[in-house]
Amino acid sequence: MTRPSAPSARSKVRRVRELARYDRSSINAILDEATVCHVGFVDDGQPFVIPTAIARIDDHAYIHGSRVSRMLQLLVAGNPACITVTLLDGIVVARSAFNSSMNYRSVVILGSGEKVIGEDKKIVLDAFTEHLIPGRTADIRASRPKELAATTVVRFSLDEASVKISEGPPSDEKSDYESDAWAGVIPLRLKSGKPQPDPRLKSSIPVPTYISKRKT
Ligand SMILES: Cc1cc2nc3c(=O)[nH]c(=O)nc-3n(C[C@H](O)[C@H](O)[C@H](O)COP(=O)(O)OP(=O)(O)OC[C@H]3O[C@@H](n4cnc5c(N)ncnc54)[C@H](O)[C@@H]3O)c2cc1C
Repeated sequence: MTRPSAPSARSKVRRVRELARYDRSSINAILDEATVCHVGFVDDGQPFVIPTAIARIDDHAYIHGSRVSRMLQLLVAGNPACITVTLLDGIVVARSAFNSSMNYRSVVILGSGEKVIGEDKKIVLDAFTEHLIPGRTADIRASRPKELAATTVVRFSLDEASVKISEGPPSDEKSDYESDAWAGVIPLRLKSGKPQPDPRLKSSIPVPTYISKRKT
């Protein structure tokens, strides 16, 4: 089966292109595991790359934040952006510093944002909560109109996105395989710790299962 090709010249992976993918299921899988992205944009000739939360619904990636955020104001004005998501899977310990690297899954999305308004905004904000803590929205009050008004939501199409996946053991120079230095992969994974109750939590409230059983 032939793999989908890059959706545009500027999103085509050139360096180590065999690690590239462009199919929607690879894009979705990485976005759905990520909680954080980095948003690149230019303000008055100066590039900025700002970390922020990300959630995906269907064919769009969403970011949100304060109505007065410089980043969000520039994005809703249609300024071009680049959103990057990185999942770090391991440190690749090769037999030389040159060939040592990282295992990762990353997505780069190019395009301009679109402001989300009306009922859709509530749906997206709930999706952010559910993305971080599945099951949470059923337990908490609905957002107040004032809170919704203070929040800007922007969406980006996934039509111009690329994936790069680096996995597996080190790839060393032929002669380096004789080396006595250890080589391999140190796996890395983001993992939830034990929940810490708020000091002001009513003592009668147990940790809900959706918190204690949260996967990462
Ligand atoms: C955790 C991590 C660590 C890395 N460490 C290094 C490092 O130390 N040195 C290094 O040179 N590279 C590293 N990379 C790879 C790096 O992201 C670039 O792919 C690489 O540097 C080539 O850059 P380029 O601009 O020449 O890419 P090109 O192949 O010219 O980029 C063309 C287009 O391909 C797409 N693209 C490029 N990179 C990615 C990507 N990672 N994911 C999805 N789409 C992409 C973009 O749309 C880009 O516009 C790392 C990546 C990750 C995720």
